[in-house]
Amino acid sequence: MDGLFIRVEVADSVRSDAELARRLEEACPVDIFASEGGGVRIVEENLDECVLCELCLDAAPPGAVRVVKLYDGGASLERSG
Ligand code: SF4
Repeated sequence: MDGLFIRVEVADSVRSDAELARRLEEACPVDIFASEGGGVRIVEENLDECVLCELCLDAAPPGAVRVVKLYDGGASLERSG
């Protein structure tokens, strides 16, 4: 996909965490996370809006969310434990 520089990953272990889904949906200023069916959906069409604010990382438990910068050798923003 052209122009897509960011990949956002949510760990399988928390994908169906409804509370986390709600927090992520609230946290991201550009609506990259949707709370749907009791879980988290990544809204692919908004990924290129990511401003690397790290609010999603702050809202999630350590390791649950990774923001990967595809243009920067795959450097990722994440919180470790
Ligand atoms: S870093 Fe900010 S803009 Fe990017 S996905 Fe996380 S909350 Fe959204």
